[in-house]
Amino acid sequence: MSSDLLAGLNPEQLRAVTWPAQSALVLAGAGSGKTRVLTTRIAWLIQTGQISPAGVLAVTFTNKAAREMQARLSAMIPVNVRTMWIGTFHGLCNRLLRMHYRDAGLPQTFQILDSQDQLAAIKRLLKSLELSDEKFPPRTVQHFINGNKEAGNRADRLTAHDYYGQKLIELYATYDAQCRREGVVDFAELLLRSYELLSANQALCQHYRSRFRFILVDEFQDTNRLQYAWLRLLAGTDNALFAVGDDDQSIYAFRGAEVGNMRSLLRDYGIGDAIRLEQNYRSAGTILKAANALIEHNDGRLGKNLWTEAGDGEEIRFYEAWSDGDEAEFIVDEARALKREGLNLSDMAVLYRSNAQSRALEHALVNGRIPYRVYGGLRFFERQEIKHALAYLRLLANPEDDNALLRVINLPARGIGARTVEGLQAASAEGGMSLWQAVCGAGGGKRATSLAKFVLLIDAMRERSEGLTLAETVSLAIDDSGLRAMYEQDKKEGEERLANLDELINAAAAFVADEPSLALIEFLTSAALEAGEHQAEAGEDALQLMTVHAAKGLEFDAVFVSGLEEGLFPHENSLNDDKGLEEERRLMYVAVTRARKRLYLTCAQARMLHGQSRYPIRSRFVDEVPAALVKVLSSQSASASPAAPAAWQSAPAPRRSTAEIGGFRIGQSVCHAKFGLGVVVNAEGAGSDVRLQINFAEHGMKWLDLRYAKLQPA
Ligand code: ATP
Ligand code: MG
Repeated sequence: MSSDLLAGLNPEQLRAVTWPAQSALVLAGAGSGKTRVLTTRIAWLIQTGQISPAGVLAVTFTNKAAREMQARLSAMIPVNVRTMWIGTFHGLCNRLLRMHYRDAGLPQTFQILDSQDQLAAIKRLLKSLELSDEKFPPRTVQHFINGNKEAGNRADRLTAHDYYGQKLIELYATYDAQCRREGVVDFAELLLRSYELLSANQALCQHYRSRFRFILVDEFQDTNRLQYAWLRLLAGTDNALFAVGDDDQSIYAFRGAEVGNMRSLLRDYGIGDAIRLEQNYRSAGTILKAANALIEHNDGRLGKNLWTEAGDGEEIRFYEAWSDGDEAEFIVDEARALKREGLNLSDMAVLYRSNAQSRALEHALVNGRIPYRVYGGLRFFERQEIKHALAYLRLLANPEDDNALLRVINLPARGIGARTVEGLQAASAEGGMSLWQAVCGAGGGKRATSLAKFVLLIDAMRERSEGLTLAETVSLAIDDSGLRAMYEQDKKEGEERLANLDELINAAAAFVADEPSLALIEFLTSAALEAGEHQAEAGEDALQLMTVHAAKGLEFDAVFVSGLEEGLFPHENSLNDDKGLEEERRLMYVAVTRARKRLYLTCAQARMLHGQSRYPIRSRFVDEVPAALVKVLSSQSASASPAAPAAWQSAPAPRRSTAEIGGFRIGQSVCHAKFGLGVVVNAEGAGSDVRLQINFAEHGMKWLDLRYAKLQPA
């Protein structure tokens, strides 16, 4: 009866899918079918009657991955996937805490602070304690708090011998008290709180243990200590923990992920050997060879041998642009050409190391009229108008939410100035109450009138929203708050912002709540959890833009890995640190292995970063790909370039200009004391601040600053 489900699996995959009710670790490289095995195992366990859908607990790395897994399962077996617990650690913990909010000591309406909100809350705390940002950088405090939560340490369990350490511990405790008072929970708290809930409450823990006989975890290499402890708590001694992962794709060590959890799992659960999958089903041979060659530069790997039955396929394409703008245009042109050849835009992805890189790409895409989406970055739910509207909704759900209140108390402007707000903050700190309470309790005078109006506004909105649908409530909040009117007057950006607000109403209309009476809370929660993962233009075929981190687990027919420059990828923070560099290389391995058929590697010789031009050199990772696998494209004929020239360097398109800049012309032959003879191919700047790009016969392409370079006409 399960033959259909199992058809097409290779023997090792079959062994993993039909593994008995015991713990196991599948250790295998990219594209070898780990996620597929995990999903198929769930279907097989249900189909063979070993568990009911409600007995499934599966952990994925992103919400998108959870949705995909649910969609696959519904296609495989006729079940109601909503009864299954499939989600991210954060999503699952949220679900648990919502169900047992009382036992967890939380208000029913608790809200989630994303990391920006958390930072804002910390800044607010520092201010109220009159501690300087310089001595206690908010990010350091945030890191300290989250690091300790992830290690399972509450403030009262920490000790320090120096003043600074003690102060940090104090801040941690005060921050937690502030969160409790406001009924908000940060990401790390979701996990720690649900861990504490289960460990303190034997009966509850036992209930879940007997429910979730099978626990399955994808991307196990990126779990941190607390997540592993959480899994162990739920698994107890009797349940089967089935984890799949790849040490070569461990890319979250900087956030506390411990690849050592793989070894601990083998030890803690008495698993003899990991199950290994070696056949890659995703990528063409050349792409796989490139990935294998690249990752071999890392030491201390658990070691894997990936092969494919697919042919070599196409060569990898490398393009060295003369600027970030040129790189972006190249990508747009290629995407357009691929689309003409019949590929969907949604089957192509542009990957970059850092979010800031998306700007140049987005600009070119907008100009080129190519629809695109940004995953995992600051997109829809991070846009200010969306955050403002959500803040009003959060106040409707829970007026004690100080972050939300601060965001919109004077937005649109209603005469509540910074001084008044500071006064409120002082009163709230003094009286140990929320800002809302401070606002309600404000005395007489002109100031108090505007505050009282604000209270009336929120209360009236809450009253009017009773009995409305979620979409109607969202619409009401946008109208009654004055946000709509405010943006209607904004001639410059108003139109786009209003379109976004309307899209928020659409999102609310499409939202299906588990518990209709809590629809608003659930909606706000999913907005917080999905910030950045949600798509603005649903349904449209669009090019996918994302950081390499966000691309984990995904696959695309064509992949562009952009910005391959030293300092960018590998990231500048890692350049002097072997461990950091190895993590960057694993990240590059993840990037390369997302491609099914075609892989582009691109870099630029000049790039605007943080408002400044930089002239980086090509990433070492490009050179770690064997040259024989690569075809170098020149900018004149990117799509129709002949076979790879012997040399790596491609010639960028000269800017056609005869004007003199700094005494030189494009196309002019020059001589440099160190680099010898070359030709000027590009120039930028003016006056005394001029840089020239020169193609040197022996040293290749260089950008030189005329103030320092000793350059002579040849
Ligand atoms: P990653 O490490 O990147 O997360 P993975 O090991 O999870 O990769 P999957 O995403 O499960 O790999 O599989 C990669 C691709 O190979 C998918 O398109 C999947 O459907 C396909 N695939 C896996 N196993 C088989 C098989 N036995 N026959 C055909 N296709 C397969
Ligand atoms: Mg996977």
